[in-house]
Amino acid sequence: MSHTIGVDVGGTKIAGGVVDRNGKILESVKVESPAEDSTAIVTAIADMVNDLKSRHDVEGVGISAAAFVDQARAKVYFAPNLAWRDVELKKRVEEATGVTVVVENDGNSAAWGEFVAGAAFDSDDLLMVAVGTGVGGGLVVDGGLYRGGYGIAGEIGHVRIEREGRPCGCGLHGCLEQYASGTALERSTHAAATADPATAARLLEMAGGDVAAIEGPMITEAARNGDGFSIGQLASLGAWLGEGAAILSAVIDPGVIVIGGGVCEAGDLLLRPMRTTYEAQLTGVGHRPVPELRLATLGNTAGLIGVADLARR
Ligand SMILES: [Zn+2]
Repeated sequence: MSHTIGVDVGGTKIAGGVVDRNGKILESVKVESPAEDSTAIVTAIADMVNDLKSRHDVEGVGISAAAFVDQARAKVYFAPNLAWRDVELKKRVEEATGVTVVVENDGNSAAWGEFVAGAAFDSDDLLMVAVGTGVGGGLVVDGGLYRGGYGIAGEIGHVRIEREGRPCGCGLHGCLEQYASGTALERSTHAAATADPATAARLLEMAGGDVAAIEGPMITEAARNGDGFSIGQLASLGAWLGEGAAILSAVIDPGVIVIGGGVCEAGDLLLRPMRTTYEAQLTGVGHRPVPELRLATLGNTAGLIGVADLARR
């Protein structure tokens, strides 16, 4: 039976895998990403595909990247971390490999992965919120990936939740990702620990006394061990996520909301406060079904599995 290849292009690594029809990864490989050289990344992707297809019967390739991808799923308009500007990625990788290529945004790919093989397997309408350095995500509507009029739907990290709020890398102010990302969690924890070191004693001890050395996974670990300060920081992040999810739910009415990214490790310490705020902000609560909030199940392979499946369709 024929398989597809999924390639997940990140700022530091390029991960590739051969995936079967059930979303199972049969072989995976990883190389350093030459992120500063836009041509070298294309070559690295093509080399990876050629290597994998020398050992497997492959019918298509999907490439997932943190990028604005056009409606034809062929051209990258812009990828801030990959030095790509108006790159004909589909054409170039097809020429170098002889295999049909589909290009997709990373949030969309991860949403599709969780839809076909992960946490949202039982719903046709999914809102995926991926919490990492920023906040990404994707939408599945009526069983299909919702890409929008120009291919760039689902940029949920840039929904504005605070007027005159914190400045965002996108050039605007008050975007969700300035409050609800892993970066925002660290930033607000650093500020709170600086303002009142005594309450953050546990975290400071873990970080060797250096506020700037407090990182997301430490906050999660301390919270899981019962540290009230860390639990509060995660609750605040969860509340912002709940707020953002409620705004989006008013428009798309998702069947399921899936939260992905490293913060998933926090489990209920994140989900419970998120759910509380979500239900408080969701329009019509008490007179409507409330979507379930779930943790992603595919981890950092969601994009690879998702885009490999998209390459089959
Ligand atoms: Zn923004």
